[in-house]
Amino acid sequence: MKPDTLAVHAARGPDRETGAVAQPLYLSTTFERATDGSYPSGFQYGRNDNPNRRALEQAVAALDGANDSLAFASGSAAVLAAFSLLRPGDHLLVPSECYYGTLKQVGKVIEPLGIAVSRVATWDLDEVRNALRPQTRMIWVETPSNPLLRISDLAGLATLARTQGAWLACDSTLAPPPVQRPLELGADLVMHSSTKFLAGHSDVTGGLLSVREGGGELERLREYQAMMGAVPSPFDCWLTRRSLMTLQVRVRAQVAAAQAVAAFLAGQPSVEQVFYPGLARHAGHAVAARQMHGFGSMLSFTVPGGADEAMRVAARVRLFTRATSLGSVESLIEHRASIEGPGTTTPANLLRLSIGLEHADDLIEDLREALS
Ligand code: PLP
Repeated sequence: MKPDTLAVHAARGPDRETGAVAQPLYLSTTFERATDGSYPSGFQYGRNDNPNRRALEQAVAALDGANDSLAFASGSAAVLAAFSLLRPGDHLLVPSECYYGTLKQVGKVIEPLGIAVSRVATWDLDEVRNALRPQTRMIWVETPSNPLLRISDLAGLATLARTQGAWLACDSTLAPPPVQRPLELGADLVMHSSTKFLAGHSDVTGGLLSVREGGGELERLREYQAMMGAVPSPFDCWLTRRSLMTLQVRVRAQVAAAQAVAAFLAGQPSVEQVFYPGLARHAGHAVAARQMHGFGSMLSFTVPGGADEAMRVAARVRLFTRATSLGSVESLIEHRASIEGPGTTTPANLLRLSIGLEHADDLIEDLREALS
């Protein structure tokens, strides 16, 4: 089935008891046992499972082409769930540039557990190959990366991971299905901060971790999900499942508008550099064209000068909202370095844009005025 059809129909259909076309919201934290002690519904307790969570997980698994998917209370909780597969003495490769929160988790939570970490340019396969060790158990990649939109070659990384018997785990938050389906390219795990495109309306915090194979790892992750308890509420799951139905049309429109905005910015003398994989001059353009369907709706650009000049541009927009996050229906502009804080490697003169569903002409006009 095509993604558009899956987005509407996967794990979804009229409620058997009432005929309700939209799935009911199941707030119950506990489920009745039969007289023989069994659980006829398959549900026991809200931290372990819930019908709304199950529906969301099955729908995301279908969209990712996964065996199954696990929902968490945030993208960050889903990242840590993936890292929970590692053991002391294991070696983990992470990108030297990606979402700053992930690198913070790696430094503050993962390394102190006795897991060795190498930070490498995952967009350079030779660098990754040279960094592999016999103990390498996972390559974590984020493509496109946040905020510099670097593109890593998923099929190439999958081959390297396989030679090592390591997992390839991809944070695909900036490129939701159908823009990118990392499992098809050989990844073992794919993670989404569903706070972004999957929920898509700036009103839910969540994360999904999709697993290609059934069996051992999936069982470990299921157990971790229930034990750690960082699970989303039924209502957040319900909202996210509902949003998935429009994911395909939202993302298609957002990608088309982002391509137009990137082309506009690339032609502006008051713009220094544009980071968007859809531009032919972007270093990762060829790989992106191969592994993505459309180039996403995130882009960054630098302006001549420093943080003050960038802040001044952000202060002058009227249609874009000055806020962090991405993937929602409204366009956002963000001075990234000041969000990331001390130690950031993001250029001080960089602004990140998340393109929403407004008309591209209006967004371009807003930027033209802000830059003039
Ligand atoms: N991964 C990426 C690429 C992100 O951009 C973010 C958040 O911005 C996260 C992970 C973390 O997600 P959450 O904020 O839902 O915890």
